[in-house]
Amino acid sequence: MPTPAHSSLAEPLTYRADQALAPGTLVRVPLGAREVLGVVWANDLPAPAAELAVQVRPIAGALDGLPPLDDHWRALIGFTARYYQRALGEVALAALPPQLRTLTSVQLARRLKRQSAAATVQPGTPTLEALSGEQAAALQAIEAERGPFLLFGATGSGKTEVYMRAAADALARDPAAQVLVLVPEINLTPQLEARFAARFGAEAVVSLHSGLTPAQRLGHWLAAHLGHARIVLGTRVAVLASVPWLALIVVDEEHDPSYKQQEGARYSARDLAVYRGHLSGAKVVLGSATPSLESWHASTPAPDGPGRYQRLAMPRRIGTAATDDPNAGLPRVRRVDMTRQPKGTLLAPPLLAALTERVGRGEQVLLLLNRRGWAPVLACGDCGWKSECPHCSAYRVFHKIDRTLRCHHCGFTQRVPRACPSCGNPDIGTLGRGTEQLEERLVELLAEVRRPDGSPVQVLRIDADSARGAGRLEAQLAQVHGGDVDVLVGTQMVAKGHDFRRVSLVAAINPDGALYASDFRAPERLFALLMQAAGRAGRDAASGMDSEMWVQTQHPKHALFAALKTHDYPGFAAGQLKERAEAGLPPFCHLALLRAEARTQEAAQGFLNAVAETAAEALAQGELAEAFSNLTWYPAVPLTVQRVANIERAQMLIESPSRMALQRVLAACQPLLHALRASAEHKAVVRWAMDVDPLAV
Ligand code: ADP
Ligand code: ZN
Ligand code: ZN
Repeated sequence: MPTPAHSSLAEPLTYRADQALAPGTLVRVPLGAREVLGVVWANDLPAPAAELAVQVRPIAGALDGLPPLDDHWRALIGFTARYYQRALGEVALAALPPQLRTLTSVQLARRLKRQSAAATVQPGTPTLEALSGEQAAALQAIEAERGPFLLFGATGSGKTEVYMRAAADALARDPAAQVLVLVPEINLTPQLEARFAARFGAEAVVSLHSGLTPAQRLGHWLAAHLGHARIVLGTRVAVLASVPWLALIVVDEEHDPSYKQQEGARYSARDLAVYRGHLSGAKVVLGSATPSLESWHASTPAPDGPGRYQRLAMPRRIGTAATDDPNAGLPRVRRVDMTRQPKGTLLAPPLLAALTERVGRGEQVLLLLNRRGWAPVLACGDCGWKSECPHCSAYRVFHKIDRTLRCHHCGFTQRVPRACPSCGNPDIGTLGRGTEQLEERLVELLAEVRRPDGSPVQVLRIDADSARGAGRLEAQLAQVHGGDVDVLVGTQMVAKGHDFRRVSLVAAINPDGALYASDFRAPERLFALLMQAAGRAGRDAASGMDSEMWVQTQHPKHALFAALKTHDYPGFAAGQLKERAEAGLPPFCHLALLRAEARTQEAAQGFLNAVAETAAEALAQGELAEAFSNLTWYPAVPLTVQRVANIERAQMLIESPSRMALQRVLAACQPLLHALRASAEHKAVVRWAMDVDPLAV
């Protein structure tokens, strides 16, 4: 009987099999001269195709011993491909462990034999006697209601404990049940995995992320697919894993931008988690102290009824129930007006004094500066030369450590010139500050300061440069946890999720850039980053340390910092949502971005404008006329960094109040895009991509 299987091509291919194969069966099929992995998508053919069946090639074989991928999984993959405008096969293959493609039957059989039976979970005996009242109320709601839930819990309010109890409840209700827990960063998985393993037993927990070896990835995927693993913990890619007995999905730090895939199928793992829960009847809990404005809006009751999500609030930090202060335990926020400091001040004297006092008492300090390198630009004061990258529309960053100028966009690296390459002036200087410079200055400034035990103060820098190399970041984080580090200097990498126990002072050195950025989400991201950073301070309530968050800014009166001072996420969100509603921005409308890259900016923009024109000609009349009339097409514009590695980049924004209209028109545009791209007129176009619900515009 003919069986359509699947490759990464746009449409499923048709193959023949001797016996009917259940949809979802993994097969190997010939494709040209190669043999590739496929998934049986359907096993009956419409009549016209059946007539051609004599010509179709037979499958090479099924992957024996593997249960088929279930209906829910296939529905999820199908939805992802349709919604994010990608080929079905591409999405399906990306969701499967790469080793499945190359494994022989014998190897697979051996692997399967090694898979132990479904792990019996420990009853999940909690180490904590009593839940806080807020935790208990949240859990009760998760137990009793349908959700999806937005767990809006302050940093340190005990969200992880709620996830674990909800997981224990789900596992207790059904002896086969599985739980999926998503985290934004690979480097947060070991910490969380350890907590879940300690609670439920190491056997019951597997992780799925890109840091695993291919063999581990296959092993862990199999454990989830066969139902042996009861708790699957992973980064965004895990949302597409096969988890057949899924009963609960948790998305921790649901606001985090890394849930959005930035290449290929540009899916949002958070949004897919909600959809997946709906498909498979699993409860969904999205957790954050600073929810995305989308989730916040979705959980806000509308005049005509409740929100789509159910909001569960845990405003208080653990251990502060006895006080009346709703912000008890959260750091006091102090704004330093940098307009009153001498121009070019890196660390304002009062901040330096506070920092010195803290490390002298044995406390830890975290300084955030979102620019790596020593200085963002090298410049000549005589002729105005700047360290532009010859291949990009960006400056190369000065790295003092190895005396290089490095482009952070294309990687182009050269040794620092001795004199100005343009006029020969030997006295060239730097503009702006990066983490390397901050680290160096701190080492100088703290040279005489001693810890309580008399030993010198230790400064550590963590950023993409320091963390390069396998295991480097883990080693550095372990140093911080172990207390070997007094002052930690870092980019946003260090602000997320870590539970550093002795940090009592956090400072944002220069956060102003995001206040007036062109991206409408920049303030939302900055606020979340600062709230999360503040959340690193004073986590050990029992220690009685008072904690502080300092912000150095030229705009101390800005509403964003005022909201930060009172830890007022709802106030900040209300202000932002009001602006978004007035401007017709998400979540009040839906966006898609069409991007093109070409040798010239003209060619890139020309292609995008041609797409808009062709779409108007083809779709403005006829079946899609109404949907099309619901869309606004903006003119093509260059990206902020418009040239990278000598390729010009342009984008076009498409907007609609109707998600459905946008979807239908985008789907109808696919063949037009392929045809235009193939035409001689647009041969200068290197590539194009579509981003549905883009994060950065
Ligand atoms: P969040 O994820 O909200 O930032 P965590 O779940 O990490 O917070 O909890 C912060 C700390 O409080 C952890 O050390 C955790 O073990 C502890 N904790 C959580 N719930 C309780 C509780 N009910 N009683 C005592 N300590 C708790
Ligand atoms: Zn010069
Ligand atoms: Zn470059």
